[in-house]
Amino acid sequence: MPDSLVVTQQAVKRSRDTWFGKIARLFNQVKVDSEVWDELEELLIAADVGVATTQKLIERVKQRVKTEKLNEPVQVRNALAQEMVGLLTVESGAVPVSNSIGLYAILVVGVNGSGKTTSIAKLAYNLKNEGNKVILAAADTFRAAAVDQLKRWGERIGVEVVAHQPGGDPGAVVYDAIQAAQNRQAQVVIIDTAGRLHTKFNLMEELKKIKRVVDKYELPQEVLLVIDATTGQNGLAQARHFTEAVGVNGIFLAKLDGTARGGIVLSICDELKIPIAYIGTGEQLGDMAPFDANTFVTAVFRN
Ligand code: GDP
Ligand code: MG
Repeated sequence: MPDSLVVTQQAVKRSRDTWFGKIARLFNQVKVDSEVWDELEELLIAADVGVATTQKLIERVKQRVKTEKLNEPVQVRNALAQEMVGLLTVESGAVPVSNSIGLYAILVVGVNGSGKTTSIAKLAYNLKNEGNKVILAAADTFRAAAVDQLKRWGERIGVEVVAHQPGGDPGAVVYDAIQAAQNRQAQVVIIDTAGRLHTKFNLMEELKKIKRVVDKYELPQEVLLVIDATTGQNGLAQARHFTEAVGVNGIFLAKLDGTARGGIVLSICDELKIPIAYIGTGEQLGDMAPFDANTFVTAVFRN
């Protein structure tokens, strides 16, 4: 995978130039008075950290200022950074793909346009470069263009795509893809799914069916939810629906390069208690990195 700090810094550049840059500069003052705290609160909310998470964060930092008697602004800033890392550190409960033996399934869900297919291509590209045999399942059969898009990525990367006719049964595609993956002794099967059907109820029922097909094989697996970072707090509401339907072990936060409000990562981790596994930082295959709490906080506070 690409160098995580470099990629993360590129991805949060807009946030650093705006809200997070202002937050970092707040602590260049001589002392941290009530005005600084108020401004910090405003900036965190403006950065999309969310009201509840902002208040929690500020409370924790204030508590440390009191108990650890932090006087210097730089000490307060460091405490803030540490508390951010704390909020961003969430356990996934899933066996990571890098530690698994045999075939590993990644079920990718998320609303239309969030970046699922592109993120799948990036994941496949990286996993292949790490020496894995990867198979893609085109289970977004709702739109013909979706199948074609995945096939084109598959050709570019050089990985096999299992697809049926548009309009077909997504569960059958997944079944075939897992069979193919087992026959070819592949290490990873990544399943692309629809992000919109006639109704949200239909979509969630279909995702549950797909999940049951995967479950039948008892493969180590991960449900990865792709969230578009530019949709802000809206992304959190979407996440709750998917979590209720199929459970989510990790988040692929796409388009982090496209927002000045990188604070969304904090509210995702704090409110959903689901770890961010990867960040998407552009439209090319190399534009992703595994998410790391320390790296992220270092990147946003670096001037
Ligand atoms: P899907 O409908 O969820 O499968 O979404 P797509 O993968 O088709 O992506 C929708 C759009 O978002 C496409 O134009 C992608 O190129 C773009 N996109 C996906 N990921 C990223 C990212 O990390 N950064 C940027 N800037 N664009 C992205
Ligand atoms: Mg798609």
